[in-house]
Amino acid sequence: MVNHCIQLGLEKNVTTLRKFSSLFYHKLDCYQIQSYYKLNAISQACGRLAQVKRSVKEGKTPRLPYIQKPYLVSCYGFKINGMLLSIPAGNRRYINIILNHHTQQILQDSSLRVKSFVITPSSISLCIQKEVEQIKCDNTTGIDRNLRNVTAGNHEKVIIYDMKDLPKIVHRSRKIISTFKRNDHRIRQKIYSKLGSRRARRVKQFLNRISKEIVRKANESRSMIVFEDIKGIRKLYRKGNYQGRKYRAMMNGWPFYELQRQVQYKSAWVGIPVRFVSPVRTSILCPICGSRTQEDRYQHRKLWCGSCKRYMDRDVIAAMNISYKWLQRFCNPSGLTGEAMKGNLGNAMPVILRVDASKMQTHR
Ligand SMILES: [Zn+2]
Repeated sequence: MVNHCIQLGLEKNVTTLRKFSSLFYHKLDCYQIQSYYKLNAISQACGRLAQVKRSVKEGKTPRLPYIQKPYLVSCYGFKINGMLLSIPAGNRRYINIILNHHTQQILQDSSLRVKSFVITPSSISLCIQKEVEQIKCDNTTGIDRNLRNVTAGNHEKVIIYDMKDLPKIVHRSRKIISTFKRNDHRIRQKIYSKLGSRRARRVKQFLNRISKEIVRKANESRSMIVFEDIKGIRKLYRKGNYQGRKYRAMMNGWPFYELQRQVQYKSAWVGIPVRFVSPVRTSILCPICGSRTQEDRYQHRKLWCGSCKRYMDRDVIAAMNISYKWLQRFCNPSGLTGEAMKGNLGNAMPVILRVDASKMQTHR
């Protein structure tokens, strides 16, 4: 039915839901199915057509959408009675599906509302909605993402999540792919996609522990999460930028966005705001006195502040500066766009904790 709708929409060049249903709703009469599903089929087709339109606007040449796998979706007419999901099947009959224990437990939360369901030959998914009130924050947590660690904190406390195993995961899968000698694109594509999705799953799971911990800590201390906006950083590691292949592969395998994505959806679920600041000079200026720090080639990832007369970890500096940048905007909305990092939030360095992310336990 969705494919039929897509075809109708393409013929008449209609992509809006209202126009589509007024023009073509009666054309779906040939399907012996409840009207709930017809409406959903129309909206599914419209979504796909709108996507095509968007891609054409961006200058791409997208393939025309065609749905190959069967699925059933509806946001109307279904019920959840305790342990049963009842799906309308016409003539006031319902098909009942028993939900498993885990799903039942989650749906016991009265703030959740089930909005729709999707059934495929092998799975059922329920889409749930929750009304979340934003937490009023009186603090900020800056998050600095690096290749081998993630540093989260502010002027009071900084936690460094060590993730030196993460580049190894990426490196290993690249190594395995490079050992294939057989030159057959059909088999190659299959194996590469299998390895690629394995790598993505491992990276996701690894980062999941860190993002969960970050959001939990932020919720405890009622602080806002602040990221650097490093969109477009991959442009620095392109072919022709005078870097080696290995270096580029390492930097382009750095999953900086995945952590941000996870933190964003997890904090949205509990109501913590996530904000972005510009990354300019966050890892150069001293967060305590505001002067420029010097790199020291004999000290690994340490910066020297001439006026404070001490070495500081560059990741700690970055996390403090990011958190301070947003705080500054709060106190001073008119001016000061992050030039002066002068913290003056106390001259003491924060408490620094180091956590090995690969040995972290997931809290339930
Ligand atoms: Zn200083």
